[in-house]
Amino acid sequence: MQNFELTILGCSSATPTSKRNPTAQLLNIAERFFLIDCGEATQIQLRKFKLKFQRINHIFISHLHGDHYLGLVGFLSSLHLLGRTTDLHIFCPAELQEIIEIQFKHSQSYLKYKLIYHPHQYINNHLIFEDDKVEVRTIVLNHRIPCCGFIFKEKQILASILKSTILKYGLSVEQIIELKKGAELVSENGNVIPNEQLVFNKLKPRSYAYCSDTRYDEGLVEYIKDVDLLYHEATFLDNMNQRAKETFHSTALEAGTIAKKASVNKLMIGHYSARYKDPEPLLIEAKSIFENTVLAIEGEITSVEHI
Ligand SMILES: [Zn+2]
Ligand SMILES: [Zn+2]
Repeated sequence: MQNFELTILGCSSATPTSKRNPTAQLLNIAERFFLIDCGEATQIQLRKFKLKFQRINHIFISHLHGDHYLGLVGFLSSLHLLGRTTDLHIFCPAELQEIIEIQFKHSQSYLKYKLIYHPHQYINNHLIFEDDKVEVRTIVLNHRIPCCGFIFKEKQILASILKSTILKYGLSVEQIIELKKGAELVSENGNVIPNEQLVFNKLKPRSYAYCSDTRYDEGLVEYIKDVDLLYHEATFLDNMNQRAKETFHSTALEAGTIAKKASVNKLMIGHYSARYKDPEPLLIEAKSIFENTVLAIEGEITSVEHI
């Protein structure tokens, strides 16, 4: 089975603490390595957890608050110093290009590899990346400045079919392909044989939705419905819900509510305010609404399993 693994590199909100770093995550789907946000210390965390820099070919930046991108220029610079020549794609707010270019301009750095920018359009369910294994779409988050979340989804995984089934029904190559994709078989006399009776190893494509940073917004639910893993920010406890509203963030209670409304399989919360030395109370609060919740913990790997 192909990999679908999320590694947390940073789980703090606005400021780093002595124990936690600002937001960054590494997602591996079928050996495609996607870096999601790039707060300060991202490259140090990659080193610490022995994750290979050069395997990252796609970076997704949600928005231009410093805790989500201030590690980027350092990371890009290290890739250059380590001899990278492969193109690197950055999906980000359009303004980020200017921010990066001005820093390299004044240090007279000329990268040996090409940066290819894909500016956000801020459209829900907008396809921004796809290859033969994965597709990535944006969702528009409700934050103080323009902000996108991302949904990463496996492409349909073809089911298997027994040779005896092929012989029994005299299937053509075209029919086999359609059956592996999920079609029914209609025989010459019009009988319909359901797909389930013909194939095995039928797997539902797995998905991961990344929602940071955002206010509580039920408008997200339709786009993240039924995802296998939802990461939703939980900056505050419910007793600070007024502060959450004012700063366009969410509480743990609200993250749990969104997970429940969207019927996701698992919720991961993160982006903890520095005031919570121990994030456990945030977990307890989210779990009071949505039981299958876990904390984002730096260095931990979460495998998304087929359900
Ligand atoms: Zn943030
Ligand atoms: Zn923010």
